Amino acid sequence: MPKTVIALNELRTPLPIPPRAAGLAAASADTRGRRLRDLRISVTDRCNFRCVYCMPKEVFDAQYAFLQQREVLTFEEIVRLASVFRGEGLEKVRLTGGEPLMRKDIDRLVAMLRAALPGVDLTLTTNGSALKAYAQRLRDAGLDRITVSLDSLDDATFRAMNDVDFPVAKVLEAIDAAAAAGLSPVKINVVVKRGVNDAQVVDIARRFRGTGHVVRFIEFMDVGSTNGWRMDDVVPSAEIVRRIGEHFPLEPLDPEYAGEVAERWRYRDGAGEIGAISSVTRAFCSTCTRARLSTDGQLYTCLFAQRGYDLKALLRGGASDDDVAAAIRSIWHARADRYSEIRTAETARARKVEMSFIGG
Ligand code: SAM
Repeated sequence: MPKTVIALNELRTPLPIPPRAAGLAAASADTRGRRLRDLRISVTDRCNFRCVYCMPKEVFDAQYAFLQQREVLTFEEIVRLASVFRGEGLEKVRLTGGEPLMRKDIDRLVAMLRAALPGVDLTLTTNGSALKAYAQRLRDAGLDRITVSLDSLDDATFRAMNDVDFPVAKVLEAIDAAAAAGLSPVKINVVVKRGVNDAQVVDIARRFRGTGHVVRFIEFMDVGSTNGWRMDDVVPSAEIVRRIGEHFPLEPLDPEYAGEVAERWRYRDGAGEIGAISSVTRAFCSTCTRARLSTDGQLYTCLFAQRGYDLKALLRGGASDDDVAAAIRSIWHARADRYSEIRTAETARARKVEMSFIGG
């Protein structure tokens, strides 16, 4: 019997579909005054890495029931939904997963989104394993920028964290290829886990100072329910910034826009900037403008959600764009999520949707 961490049909919440022309204004706010600005789209729930903090091997093994192709949104469905979201105020799209470069012809999807969403910031997050060959094609298709995940410069640590023995050198080559293709500034995501890679944060900062790339240190989060999260494993961003600042003096920078996830710090000597993403120690729920579309077309309004809303069923059931827009508006209006503000050891143990499925 194939296993899933949470049976997907348990996650679906009946859609609060309002009557047609419910009269709600586009780009309206949720119950806490937050606008819908960003959409993260998971284009596949599969990944070729088994990062210990995200898709641990013991769970995501040969018996794991990944989605079947018929369950996965087609490119046309993704573009249609993104266009409807655009009408609700969307300004930024991030393609993610799973590993988005494992989705066949991903550059074609980028080109389709580019054509459908002029002016929208179009980005993608990847583990970098296939990026070297793809970077120029993605840029040519209209991708604006890219984020590459890289948890260590030490080859042994990197191989242990991705748990498929993938060498760090290939990801470093891919980062160079992305910059050469014009996907800059390249952002580099480093998930920091105490006792695993936290001793390396200064080396990572040193390596990318002066390159134009922006390293973002991310606190290990209790996403999903399979990564064995414990507060003791979290290295608070303040500690990371302090450690780096002891070697390379830093000063805070203003956010580039309201609701920016990373707190920004600039090297005082002008060698660039770093970011700190502190979902655990400095929750940013109050400014969260992100919606997430899972690989199978469920809308989630929080990374830590237990349930999504089935937009694919609407699309495949013949709903018009107006119907879909009304459903999105109604879901967003009712949104009250603030998981990171109320996180406790208890909530961390709750069943939540996996990040590879909902999109990181
Ligand atoms: N496969 C792509 C990648 O590796 O970047 C995209 C998907 S991945 C889920 C997106 C981001 O989420 C990565 O930067 C990853 O390191 C981060 N991530 C995954 N699990 C996490 C966790 N438990 N805490 C913090 N960040 C996590």
